[in-house]
Amino acid sequence: MSVESLIFEKGTPGRRAATLPAMDVPVATLEDLIPASLLREEPAPLPEVSEIEIVRHYTHLSQRNFGVDTGFYPLGSCTMKYNPKLNEDMAALPGFAHIHPLQPAHTVQGAIQLIYELERYLSEIAGMARTTLQPSAGAHGELTGLMVIKAYHQSNGQGHRNLVLVPDNAHGTNPASATLADYKIVEVKTDPTTGGIEIERFKQVLEQHGPNIAAIMLTNPNTLGLFDTNIAEVGRLIHSVGGQLYYDGANANAVMGITRPGDMGFDVVHFNLHKTCSTPHGGGGPGAGPIGVKAHLIEFLPGPLPAKRGTEYYWEEQGPQSIGKVRANLGNFGVLVRAYTYIRFNGPDGLLHVSESAILNANYLRHELASSYDIAYPLICQHEFVASARRQKEQSGVTATDIAKRLLDFGLYAPTVYFPLIVPEAMMIEPTETETRESLDFFVNVMQQIAEEAESNPDLVKTAPHTTVVGRLDQALAARKPNLRWQPALA
Ligand SMILES: *Cc1c(COP(=O)(O)O)cnc(C)c1O
Repeated sequence: MSVESLIFEKGTPGRRAATLPAMDVPVATLEDLIPASLLREEPAPLPEVSEIEIVRHYTHLSQRNFGVDTGFYPLGSCTMKYNPKLNEDMAALPGFAHIHPLQPAHTVQGAIQLIYELERYLSEIAGMARTTLQPSAGAHGELTGLMVIKAYHQSNGQGHRNLVLVPDNAHGTNPASATLADYKIVEVKTDPTTGGIEIERFKQVLEQHGPNIAAIMLTNPNTLGLFDTNIAEVGRLIHSVGGQLYYDGANANAVMGITRPGDMGFDVVHFNLHKTCSTPHGGGGPGAGPIGVKAHLIEFLPGPLPAKRGTEYYWEEQGPQSIGKVRANLGNFGVLVRAYTYIRFNGPDGLLHVSESAILNANYLRHELASSYDIAYPLICQHEFVASARRQKEQSGVTATDIAKRLLDFGLYAPTVYFPLIVPEAMMIEPTETETRESLDFFVNVMQQIAEEAESNPDLVKTAPHTTVVGRLDQALAARKPNLRWQPALA
């Protein structure tokens, strides 16, 4: 056996992590409880381990992982901010953690009150009339929002509108969600100097497709971290052809307390509570993607919505125009409790401070890195910016991937690489507001050192990482044939 498998493979037959007292009441046999046809003939070949073995096993596994609690995590567009431990305490309160989505309303008054109040906070933050907390992620919010828009058009005899406009720097979920909602995508070009919608070309698209346009999906600031100052004009133009303005609000970290999508003219917005309002969400979850809408879209929202009569909270069913439920009443409730806690302890001034600090930190990094790396759009940015390894690739063949891997050697997570697609060798960097000056400076120093290595010793960078548990993986194989499951070595 290899040392690696000796480290990983555990167990000796008959060993146990728990000792249970002998049963002193009559018990049904397994055969009484479960039909014989469903019972195993052989025991499952699971490792049999003692408590200390199992504790060490999982503790070691957790140490091989990277998380925001172990190091700086500048993954652009993902908003990997620190997740306050207070949120976890609140989400674990038994009255929140041990309830069922279909429990009678009078037994879960506190939970409905939390949803009722969180809905009002989010509506206020976004400048929207009402918000549903049902969707489970940003992409799920996008799908829900587009279904609401579709129901709205259908109710106006405009069901033929089958196009959704998406800018060329959009997050990949935007065209994916629109496709899932049975729309066709029309790509809209952005301005190569500002990253915003090119108004003249946008007008041409509207002229060409106007009566068939259902909506345009935008995020502002966009995925380059740049605020589109033409947004009011874009809104006026899309509305003039009968389309709706959809806001991908995953980037609310840059706008909370400063401006509101509703005031910019948007009709629908989704939030990414797991990003903006701090839930640990590495590896794809858990999330919550509430959507807020203007008054003309309320009747199409999924139901039920929380309501209050006197001091009593209850669920109010939606009318016949509703698109129907997209998830159980309480949504992804643990994430909602964390978001509620986050909003309450920050308060309005705190949320403004969050956005201002996120913007300040991103601009600090953008400025400090500008001598070593190309900055794709050298403008004041919002919560993130896109650097490029173009220079390094031309000079020594060192790519954005190589730099991302080399960062791991210093205990730093990599930026988002090769996104947005319109920037070659893109490295999208989002420091978030929770990092200290020291951690930002450390990142800058490491990035500068890597830029020097790319010149003096490119092989060191191209073969990184050197200090991690596993080195460079075959990325295609890891994506196409991931080996995610432990399987017993069968005799
Ligand atoms: C993260 C993100 C999404 C998707 O959100 P999920 O919760 O991962 O589905 C959509 N748009 C933007 C701009 C994002 O950053």
